[in-house]
Amino acid sequence: MSRFAKKFLENMEPYTPGEQSDVPGLVKLNTNENPYPPAPGVRRAMAYWGTFRTQKPLNRYPDPSCGPLIKTLASYYNVEENMVAVGNGSDEILAFAYMAFGEKVICPKISYGFYPVFGEMFSGEVREIPLTKDFRIDPDDYADDEGTIIVANPNAPTGRDMGIEGIEKLLSYGRLVIVDEAYGDMGSESAVPLTGGYDNLLVVRTFSKGRSLAGMRVGYAIGHRELIEDINRIKFSFNPYSLDSVAMNAAVESVKDEKYFRETLDKIVRTRQWFAGEMEALGFEVLPSAANFVMTSGPVPGREYFEKLRERNILIRYFDKDPIRDYVRITIGTEDEMKKLLEATKEILNESR
Ligand code: PMP
Repeated sequence: MSRFAKKFLENMEPYTPGEQSDVPGLVKLNTNENPYPPAPGVRRAMAYWGTFRTQKPLNRYPDPSCGPLIKTLASYYNVEENMVAVGNGSDEILAFAYMAFGEKVICPKISYGFYPVFGEMFSGEVREIPLTKDFRIDPDDYADDEGTIIVANPNAPTGRDMGIEGIEKLLSYGRLVIVDEAYGDMGSESAVPLTGGYDNLLVVRTFSKGRSLAGMRVGYAIGHRELIEDINRIKFSFNPYSLDSVAMNAAVESVKDEKYFRETLDKIVRTRQWFAGEMEALGFEVLPSAANFVMTSGPVPGREYFEKLRERNILIRYFDKDPIRDYVRITIGTEDEMKKLLEATKEILNESR
């Protein structure tokens, strides 16, 4: 740390992203990316940008109001345009939300690693509530506190869905509820339709997972127009051009292709169900997942399983903390990738017998 750094940096514990690696032949199942490419329309649009013959060349700033993308999302979700804000990945939208609403934040103890980090950066206090013994978020545990509630649904890294009734229970407390639906395309019910009826609900979503655009960094929030106004006040006080022209164009093209979106999601969900069954047959416990990953624990301890897979060029995620130390999180890749992981798992199990 330099001698010029602000005091708070000294004690800050930054978020640790999953490893990004491009070793040839690596089976990469550690950061919950979509194994399928973006929609063909996105790929065509990117080729177009590559030619530099477009109406909006890169020497111009992007549209700070993000008009076409906001219009596209508002129409897709059937909400007013003033109920949508967009940002550079949902990480940025979450950061804006903490800046705007995060005096005190309450979140699950086992959830997205950024929630406490943003707390340290932007808010006074973060209280982390343990999950139930079976790794669920119990809305009753959030009743008595004050402050903004933030939950991921489905939760990460557990994959468990708390159900729309759970979200409504949280909303009934009257405090602001931020629902992070980063994995909301793979089997859970979205809270977006509730946004018309509650002024204390902000739903945060991303193009990174279901829409195969993690490399582009596009996220958005849907909620009451006053909440969106607050988010935009922060955005325009921080970086009005946080979303670049190319990324916005890619996102718009992605939303246009509902058929491709549904087909890739179906493949992921089918692969997840088949894979969970195969793992259970090998003696693993697999938590019920509504996401593009599963959390599992088996005959080989979590860390050892992670390391032995890594030796075989297969990358999954291990979290060295209670109460998930015995578990690993495995992203659902293509069927072929999951077959490789299952073969390697059989070898590892045979070795440890
Ligand atoms: N929320 C959750 C629960 C996540 O796991 C992630 C991705 N790691 C994000 C938000 C951020 O996604 P992005 O910034 O790529 O939109």
